[in-house]
Amino acid sequence: MTDTMTPQQRHYCMSRIRSKDTTPEKRVRQWLWQHGYRYRLCVKGVPGKPDIVMRKYRTAIFVNGCFWHGHDVELVVSSEQLVVKSSNCCKIPQTNREFWVAKIKRNQERDQQNYKVLEENGWQVIVLWECQLKPKKLEQTMLQVEIQLHDFYIKTFNHRSKTYIHIEEERLPMVAEEPEEYGQ
Ligand SMILES: [Zn+2]
Repeated sequence: MTDTMTPQQRHYCMSRIRSKDTTPEKRVRQWLWQHGYRYRLCVKGVPGKPDIVMRKYRTAIFVNGCFWHGHDVELVVSSEQLVVKSSNCCKIPQTNREFWVAKIKRNQERDQQNYKVLEENGWQVIVLWECQLKPKKLEQTMLQVEIQLHDFYIKTFNHRSKTYIHIEEERLPMVAEEPEEYGQ
């Protein structure tokens, strides 16, 4: 196989596979794989370095840690005031508050910038939070992802899906009256 990556790109990909192979991300990948979805982890030319790229659905998935990306927190930083409202899954430490707030805020701003660039390029962005991927919540979260994938696919590739829907509707049997078991 020809290696088309520069050493920097290769290094980036390798480091990602090791360091970013966090459990929530693994769970997402495993679920997708088990349900027949295929994806890529390192895709050249996709801005924002998403964790999971699904080319067929033109969808980029980010798996965000609740703390580092500040899930549901309220942060206001200005020269006059510092407002910090933690959330259930992102508790800003009491010590070194300013440091943490600045750091998390920077991450949030970078996230928003990445999402924006992707969306401007016609990609769907799905952000999954660590707290939504706990074993008990995983299934529900991923079913929602599945809906988003298909909705976006239909919208984006409308010309293709229209033919499909048309044929399916024609094949539907005519129902003269409601079946009894549903009428009660
Ligand atoms: Zn969270």
